[in-house]
Formats: sequence, C-alpha cells, structure tokens
Amino acid sequence: MKFLLVGAGLSGAVIGRKLAEAGHECRIIDARDHIGGNCHTRRDDETGVMMHVYGPHIFHTDDEDVWAYVNSFAEFLPFQNRVKTTAQGAVYSLPINLLTINQFFGKTMRPDEARDFIAEQADHSITDPQSFEEQALRFVGRDLYEAFFKGYTEKQWGCSPRDLPASILKRLPVRFNYDDNYFFHRFQGMPRDGYTAMIAGILDHPGITVELNTPFDPQMRDGVDHVFWSGPLDGFFDYRLGRLGYRTLDFQRFTYDGDYQGCAVMNYGDREVPYTRITEHKHFSPWESHESSVCYREFSREAGPEDIPYYPIRLVQEKALLEDYILLAEATEGVTFVGRLGTYRYLDMDVTIREAMDTAATFLGCLAEGKSP
Ligand code: UDP
Repeated sequence: MKFLLVGAGLSGAVIGRKLAEAGHECRIIDARDHIGGNCHTRRDDETGVMMHVYGPHIFHTDDEDVWAYVNSFAEFLPFQNRVKTTAQGAVYSLPINLLTINQFFGKTMRPDEARDFIAEQADHSITDPQSFEEQALRFVGRDLYEAFFKGYTEKQWGCSPRDLPASILKRLPVRFNYDDNYFFHRFQGMPRDGYTAMIAGILDHPGITVELNTPFDPQMRDGVDHVFWSGPLDGFFDYRLGRLGYRTLDFQRFTYDGDYQGCAVMNYGDREVPYTRITEHKHFSPWESHESSVCYREFSREAGPEDIPYYPIRLVQEKALLEDYILLAEATEGVTFVGRLGTYRYLDMDVTIREAMDTAATFLGCLAEGKSP
C-alpha cells in the first residue's frame, strides 16, 4: 500500500519506518528544509557545537521498548539535566531539592526537617487545587512559589498562574534530598551525533522517500491509501473553526569566548528578566570540547499564524475548540492524526515514539485483519 506521512519529525519517522518494514511504500513530506521537526539538531557553523535548534531536548524514559528503539538508531551517551535557576539575586538548584531549600531559607535542615518546614510553609486552606498557583501554594508555600514559579510561569505562558491548570506544575518534582536530576526516569541520555542523525537513521529504509521544502497539498492524497498527519490539527482543516492557541519561542543567539554559564540550562525566575532561560548548547554534549560557546536566550510569546507552534495552551477556550476539531478529525476517513501538533498535546519525545509505535502496530493489525484502520 502507499502512504503519505505529513511531517518528518519523530512521529512521521517512526510510523513510516514501521510501515516500510511491513512492506509498504511511504512518502514523507515536510514543509521545512530539514527532518526532525522541533527535535532538529545541527552543528553550529561558527563554533562547531551541536545545537538544539528549537530548544533543549533531553531524552528520558521509563519505557524499555522505546529506549531499545532509540538506541538501535543512535549511540546514546549518559546525560542528566541539572538545571539551575537565577532568582532574587542568587543561583539555586532545580528541581527544588534539599540544597535549594537550605540555601533559599539559609538553613541546614536534614530531609525530615525540611519536609516538616515546607509543610508549614504550604497553604493548607487549599484542599483541592484547581490552578497552577493553588497547586504551588499548597505544595511549597508562597516564598518558593514567588521565587521559582510565579515569574517564570508568567513569562512562559503569558498569563497569571491563577489561570493555568494545576497539571502544568505536576510535571515538576520537589525533592527532600540532594538529587538535582531534573527527571526521574530510569533511562536518560543524549544521542552522540544529535537527534537529526538518529531520525535520519530511522528514515533510512528503501520503502521510505523523504521530500523536504514540500508543503502539503490536498491533491497529494490522490492515489494514496492513507495519510498520517503530524502537522497542526487545525491546520489540516484550514483553521475553519478558528485557531488552536500555541506559545511560540524566539531564540536570541549569541556566542561567547569560553564557558558562558557553566551549565546547559539556566532558568530565570524573576519577572523583570524578559527571557525564561538561557541554554548553552555545548553542555548538552559534555563528551565534546569546544573553546567558544553558543547560547540561546529564550523568549516565549503567543504564536501568530506564521510562527512555529511549540506549546499547546489548552486553556478552557482551546479545550472547547479542540473537542470540535477532534470530532472533525474522527469524521475524516483515511487520515490519522498523530504527534504533538496532530493531537494538540504537549508530548515528551519518549511518549511521542511510544504512541507512534502503537499507532503503526494498530494500523498494521487492522490491515492484517482486513478491517478499515
Ligand atoms: N516552571 C517554573 N519555573 C521553572 C521551571 C518550570 O515555574 O524554573 C514551570 C513553568 O510553568 C513550566 C512548567 O513548570 O511551563 C513545566 O516545566 P518544564 O521544565 O517541564 O518545562 P519545559 O522544559 O518542558 O518547557
């Protein structure tokens, strides 16, 4: 059978590979001039540093199959994300851990003492936190909330944490030990030659052709048995019900002769600093050595029609619109909507891969049983 996959990011590549391995013909198109979607990496011309072109991507998963899958296409080297934050005139360790708490409050507490101390800070009048702010106040109290979450979140989401769902904060842990690894997952690492090389490996199959600089045209559906769409869900329908909201990012690139900040990611908690974080890309490849450095100052703002969508906003208004688009998508025969943009969800890379593997398996299962996928 012949399939068209729109988008040469992780979803398109993984699904295309599985279908091609099953003997099908896959045409993968992408409007951009490179593969890899927002995971795209490339060496900086000036410094030779491997750049995470669309912002930092750190691979972490508990899923053994996904870990085995990515390792079969790339050599992964150990990498743990140890984020720092500058807030209220000092540098602290993230996620909030015993070092952060002791330094912030000028204390020398042991784990149990810190746990009790933070419990005293927490606002117990909030029993069922609805918003990001309520969740934070209940979780860590006002002082830590204001230093580490309030300003950063206002900048990142462009609205008050009172208007954001509690679920966003649930991504971040608070630790009563000195573990400053940003992620909990068992498997963590970074592809030695970047994500684009890994995705090129996934796409390297005789059943797959990739066309870059090729925007989707509805006529491309002619003669194709099925379409896998990893572009924006609302974009497939020409935004006919309105646009789903996204935050986009602007990266202000600068170089530095030496080591600019000493770590890969430095967040900025203060509202007065206009950017959310600075990433210094050479620290994503600690096994390489580069004298000069290239960094991104990262600014977040509402995405306009021409901007690259990054974070789905998913507030009340978007949720209602999303439901209408989902109904349209379900009524559209011959198209499967996949990935972060196709399903309008904020997905980590491992989840994207897992879902793509499952989508392909289900699809092939249906074909094998002669059912309509
Ligand atoms: N966040 C924050 N302060 C920080 C880091 C994160 O308030 O220093 C909040 C912010 O609202 C962010 C959310 O926690 O959107 C999730 O953070 P994460 O680091 O998972 O965001 P990502 O790296 O995926 O942008």
